[in-house]
Amino acid sequence: MTDTLAAATSAPRATVTQERKIVTSIPGPKSQELHARRMAVVPPGVSSALPVYIDRAHGAIVVDVDGNQFIDLGAGIGVTTVGHTEAGVTAAAAGQLDDFLHTLFTITPYEEYVRVAELLAEHTPGDHAKRTVLVNSGAEAVENGVKIARKYTGRRAVAVLDHAYHGRTNLTMAMNYKAAPYATGFGPFAGDVFHAPSSYPYHDGLTGAEAAARTIAYLEKRIGAVDLACLVVEPIQGEGGFMVPADGYLNALQDWCTANGVVFIADEIQSGMARTGAYWASEHFGLVPDLLLSAKGIAGGLPLAGVTGRAEIMDAALPGGLGGTFGGNPVAAAAAIAVFEAIEQHDLLAEGRRIEKKLKTRLTELQDRYDIIGEVRGIGAMVAIELVAPGTADTTKEPNAAAVSALAAHAAANGVIILTAGTYGNVLRFLPSLSASDELLDDALDVLAEGFAAL
Ligand SMILES: *Cc1c(COP(=O)(O)O)cnc(C)c1O
Repeated sequence: MTDTLAAATSAPRATVTQERKIVTSIPGPKSQELHARRMAVVPPGVSSALPVYIDRAHGAIVVDVDGNQFIDLGAGIGVTTVGHTEAGVTAAAAGQLDDFLHTLFTITPYEEYVRVAELLAEHTPGDHAKRTVLVNSGAEAVENGVKIARKYTGRRAVAVLDHAYHGRTNLTMAMNYKAAPYATGFGPFAGDVFHAPSSYPYHDGLTGAEAAARTIAYLEKRIGAVDLACLVVEPIQGEGGFMVPADGYLNALQDWCTANGVVFIADEIQSGMARTGAYWASEHFGLVPDLLLSAKGIAGGLPLAGVTGRAEIMDAALPGGLGGTFGGNPVAAAAAIAVFEAIEQHDLLAEGRRIEKKLKTRLTELQDRYDIIGEVRGIGAMVAIELVAPGTADTTKEPNAAAVSALAAHAAANGVIILTAGTYGNVLRFLPSLSASDELLDDALDVLAEGFAAL
């Protein structure tokens, strides 16, 4: 440990009070020093939204190396959903550290992997027989979902929706909507990936039935069901800007998939694991996905991801066709079991609904005052506002990325981490930990309100 960090890291994380506190300019001197070191050894392709270097974190607060405390409304993009350093999660991971760190499940297996698969089977929609394969990242879960769907159907094509985000591997780069920065210059890309129109009620004004008819027409005409292995959808799009599809849209897509032998895959990597006041966003729409992809929040901060799905589909891959060296790492799996326990013990699904109410009440008040807030949307602790140019909220809805950047910068300078999103960069998204109290959220939203006043 360097001298710079020694002083700051001496305080245990239990001393992290759940309050905002700014004691230096942002970024502070120690962060600036670390940032200079980082720029010498880490390429700019790995960027950071906010170059403050974190020393410790607990609940909904992260503390930087200069002693500034930030209210974290991003949770590492919906990863620390149960809270930073949740006591049960850290205890489970620590316990597993003492037992063993690695054997490789495909050589000599262990119970933690099996237990995570049981919990995912129990807590995902549908009471059919299910299987789960565990991997390391969301993109890897997407890759495996597509592999499995292709093997099961014997078909080649993959369909995704406009404004989707699925990852940074070669296949998933081809599945994202946005070229820059995710795909620019990184080709050639995987073929047979088709981008179908989605449901974006604020912009398209279509009912669920109308939007579904448009999507299905594309799938039938541009691809043809006989060649389509799977349709991959985020029930609520994450990076795209938290679009909640119109009523009935996703159900119509699932019905069409079922009728045509197409595997319906829900990418719940951002929307899942208690993020929306239900275990999975699919539940809000009454969906029963054939395959459900999880990652981000499932292990409380440790890297873990899964593909959970119908036994007959999951069983299609040959023995040895699925897996990987670190997939279902025992420490990450132990943490995931503790995340499920925390959700049950602390009734975290109810916390998601509380947070939705708080965020939507405050953001709707702001919308009444500032006409650049075109829409307040989302479910549970997954809420966003879309910002438009003055006077266009009910007409052309011109994206206002400048206001989003200014507001995120104002928030950061005042101790609140707010993430941006949206194909046009004009969405502020709120995905706090479920441990964020109403008091803390009010404080964060007061800072945001000051930001609006200052625009
Ligand atoms: C983050 C994300 C991914 C990719 O997950 P990684 O762990 O970053 O590979 C895929 N799909 C969605 C919806 C995501 O939000």
